[in-house]
Amino acid sequence: MLDYTKGLYINGTWHEGVSTIQNINPSDISHNIGDVAQASKDQVYQAISAAKDSQKAWEKTALEEKAKILHNIGSELISRCDEIGEIISLEEGKTKLEGKGEAFRSGQFFQYYAGEVLRQIGENAASVRALVDVEITREAVGVVGIISPWNFPLATASWKIAPALCFGNAVIWKPANLTPASAIILADIIDKQGLPKGVFNLVLGSGKEVGEALINSSDINALSFTGSVETGRRIAVATSAHFVKCQLEMGSKNALVITDDADINVAVDCAIMGAFSGTGQKCTASSRLIITEKVYDEFIDKLKSKMATLKVGHCLDDGVFMGPVADKAQFESNFKWIQRAKDLGATLAFGGEKLNLSKDGYYMSPTLFVDTKNEWDINQEEIFAPLACAIKVKDLDEAIAKVNDTRFGLTAGIITTSLKNASIFKKEVKSGCVMINLPTAGTDYHVPFGGRKQSSFGPREQGSYAKEFYTIVKTTYVKPY
Ligand code: ADP
Repeated sequence: MLDYTKGLYINGTWHEGVSTIQNINPSDISHNIGDVAQASKDQVYQAISAAKDSQKAWEKTALEEKAKILHNIGSELISRCDEIGEIISLEEGKTKLEGKGEAFRSGQFFQYYAGEVLRQIGENAASVRALVDVEITREAVGVVGIISPWNFPLATASWKIAPALCFGNAVIWKPANLTPASAIILADIIDKQGLPKGVFNLVLGSGKEVGEALINSSDINALSFTGSVETGRRIAVATSAHFVKCQLEMGSKNALVITDDADINVAVDCAIMGAFSGTGQKCTASSRLIITEKVYDEFIDKLKSKMATLKVGHCLDDGVFMGPVADKAQFESNFKWIQRAKDLGATLAFGGEKLNLSKDGYYMSPTLFVDTKNEWDINQEEIFAPLACAIKVKDLDEAIAKVNDTRFGLTAGIITTSLKNASIFKKEVKSGCVMINLPTAGTDYHVPFGGRKQSSFGPREQGSYAKEFYTIVKTTYVKPY
């Protein structure tokens, strides 16, 4: 097992921090996965300085060498996805299947960008001036800070680290303090690839200490973040003070619309996956279910019946659909929101309870409130829980108006058998991703991902679109003689 107390990876070597924290398993809070190093601000500065010193050498490294390194990282993540997935499950709470899927998907990000290394092709243009040629090329941005969240600890980081390295940048990664073990495993895999020292660095610690040191540095050139709107706003302000490029993926309040002509069984399956998989802790979760009145009762009845079959339990137990909530703070916050929904007058149709299982963990039942109003704060604020609220509407027009009546806009879904309804929906909704007869959560890795309004800021992530953030354009004018 790796020594998590020496979990800081700075300038190509492993370091202890200035203190340690426990990494508690939310499926069994008596289980400490390990004591984990916490970096000081000085160690963050050392990592930034190492990244700065090494970045040019990495940018100049031959494309095939870069591609091989990214491919190898991806292959190891994929071949070890059972073991790495288990660690993700233990520290985050997601089920065995979800943990394994995340480790596998993380490997796919690296393999995708191994291919993308070789697809860096510039453009030429004729000049408006005689005998002059124009070349448009892309260069690495330079030193990139990456701050990732706990809900997809490895996948989110991988979809940032892989393109950052692909396009020749050096990286300082600060993962969430709730999920450091999977980060140390990825750093260990990267360590084995023989990158120039300092090109990749891992600094562990709180947002307040380590995160703040990174976002306030004038020595980084770009900062990519996934997390809450509050922290995102803080990062936008801090990075703009130094004109550091920034990319933010933040919260959302995604809606799944079920229309009169929907296949109700498809609607139920999509609502279950969208609202309750990952214990509802996804920025793409279907937290609002907007249903036309004709099918409202049928849908709610069938959804409740299906919810009753979902097994909640220890992340590694067989047959578990939903693991525990990730930590105590999130757990307590979820029950405050449940109380808030009751106070507002919402009807609790299913769940809403703490569950006492054989192990002491942060277990709760999947929860459904019905007859809620879109303007209530339970339908406006991101709750990040296995909690969905049903909203009854007259028709598709009213449904679309409600979908868009939010400060967020990451994903929006519709369940319909009508091509007309699907076409209207995809044109009218103000979201970055649209899902038709699919859950709002669950995206591919080779196409852009991101949202509108307060869900995202800056260029899109993933696929070839990632180059907009991780590269900078240079325009060269050449007069050959
Ligand atoms: P969540 O509610 O999902 O924990 P946060 O925005 O608090 O969302 O955390 C997402 C990531 O941002 C984590 O890695 C966290 O440590 C980091 N973070 C939190 N606060 C700050 C901050 N002030 N500066 C930089 N990073 C921060």
